[in-house]
Amino acid sequence: RGAVASDTSGGGGDVKAHFVFIPLMFQGHLIPAVDTALLLATHGALASIVVTPSNAGRVRPAVDASQKSGLHVRLLVLPLDLAAEGLPDGADDVDKVPPDLWTNYFRALARLAAPLERRLRSDSDAAAKPYPTCVVADFCHPWARELAANLGVPRLTFFSMCAFCLLCQHNVERFEAYAGVADDNELVVVPGLEKRFVVSRAQAPGFFRGTPGFEKFGDDVEEVLTQADGIVTNSFLEMEPEYVAGYAAARNMKVWTVGPVSLYHHRRAATTVAARGNTAAIAADECLRWLDGKEPSSVVYVSFGSIAHAAAKQVVELGLGLEASGHPFIWVVKNADRHGDDVTEFLRELEERVAGRGLLIRGWAPQVLILSHAAVGGFVTHCGWNSTMEAVAAGLPVVAWPHFADQFLNAKFAVEVLGIGVDVGVTEPVIYRMDQKEIVVGREAVEEAVRSVMDGGEEREERRRRARALAAKARAAVEEGGSSHGNLLDLIKTFGVGAGCLATA
Ligand code: UDP
Repeated sequence: RGAVASDTSGGGGDVKAHFVFIPLMFQGHLIPAVDTALLLATHGALASIVVTPSNAGRVRPAVDASQKSGLHVRLLVLPLDLAAEGLPDGADDVDKVPPDLWTNYFRALARLAAPLERRLRSDSDAAAKPYPTCVVADFCHPWARELAANLGVPRLTFFSMCAFCLLCQHNVERFEAYAGVADDNELVVVPGLEKRFVVSRAQAPGFFRGTPGFEKFGDDVEEVLTQADGIVTNSFLEMEPEYVAGYAAARNMKVWTVGPVSLYHHRRAATTVAARGNTAAIAADECLRWLDGKEPSSVVYVSFGSIAHAAAKQVVELGLGLEASGHPFIWVVKNADRHGDDVTEFLRELEERVAGRGLLIRGWAPQVLILSHAAVGGFVTHCGWNSTMEAVAAGLPVVAWPHFADQFLNAKFAVEVLGIGVDVGVTEPVIYRMDQKEIVVGREAVEEAVRSVMDGGEEREERRRRARALAAKARAAVEEGGSSHGNLLDLIKTFGVGAGCLATA
């Protein structure tokens, strides 16, 4: 094959490469994968993004807008075979998967391999349709190894994580840091790093480690990762050069840092930015109007991402802490309808008391739009990596309030490595998606943490300066001549047409 013709949906002309993105369809994985696909498309690649029908609706606005601006990008919408895995109707939307059916959900995802391969091959049969040059699969899709092998193309593993977190996870496993440690909350030193960091098994268990039913899956994820042709991640070199180099060396594979990928949306229309990842529960112009009425750097934004569900008691303590802090705030309350009548009433009364100073968003918030507004001066975050990176890109100090998964390591990175965060003081994870553990941060701790990033004072100013300096580096990384920009071009060169990696189908 001499050239890859473009798909009709993405504009005309030949494309330089065809990347097939297979995101994990959790928003924290899907959103950065779509942004990365769009970034590659801006440099002349064709990006195909595999999604299930319910997720297609979430990302279509961003994809449509990019197509209209002439980018070669398309959605490959494939349904999950829910019945085959005993999943209820609608469970292709991960929010609707009951926790006891998680393993079934991951098995249903693996069943995408055959229909996806057929689709890619039949596409390529038609003269005007492109054959893939590279598969970019989320690390949670070990089945992508066989798919890429069948297609005869290279496979990259996609992460939206910092190299610091990846290296810490890798090292605690590789050097068996938890061996003989009986207590999940006992702190151990992360081996193999120059600087000293301590973590507990509960805080950083490793991918899928300790999750019942996922033992073999965790092993598969690790094995398939070791056989990848490289790693693409949402970070940037200047933020953590030693950890990017350290992780590449530990894995013996190239790591392409391409972030912050949210900066793809920089300077785009507010309505397009607001639609990133889902339909927002507040109109973009209403949100901007509210922010426009506030002093620069005066508002604290509070959100815990797309998964964490706070216990009712926590909602109340957080609300009271924000009120007591005296600072204007935007608070994203997830599943507001699931906390019962008392909390509903509490939120209503709180809203009355803080009218004009506090804005509650019940549901999906246009996060990147909010964070990039000059009125926002701090972010209370669960330290999901995307949120952390979005804070970095916006030059904001954070209150680090990790809940589970990689969030404890990300919090450590923000506080101890980057020096842009204040730790709220949570040491144990809450159980993923279920409120089994009552770990409640009290109102005084919330107030103190918010004040510690939002009030004046030399230490706070210093933290703010560091955050702003980092944001300047982040923007430079994605601009022409920057490291992330260069890595995108390198990906296209390395995995594009004529790079010797096209299969003879
Ligand atoms: N997000 C958003 N609005 C919301 C909640 C989340 O736009 O109301 C976006 C957020 O900007 C980020 C992603 O969803 O890009 C969440 O990813 P993250 O890694 O921060 O956390 P997770 O949801 O995976 O816990």
